[in-house]
Amino acid sequence: MEIDLSEFTRKPPGTRCSIPRLLESMTPEHREKIEAAMVTKNIATSTIFEKINLWSAESIGRSTVERHRKGECLCGRS
Ligand SMILES: [Zn+2]
Repeated sequence: MEIDLSEFTRKPPGTRCSIPRLLESMTPEHREKIEAAMVTKNIATSTIFEKINLWSAESIGRSTVERHRKGECLCGRS
């Protein structure tokens, strides 16, 4: 009998996270930097998280940045 693991493999029903919205609220220069930093492996998430909170109008949680970086949110998917 096969074990049903769909609960684990199914993508979370999550919506888009708040990161794209926060990026929109930044200056193009800052947005570009954050986007580039996100895809650069040797940049720590904590540093990106710090900058987002510094440069955007709203603050977000560190786990949101982590999830976004890992692609576990729905951003970039359609
Ligand atoms: Zn996201």
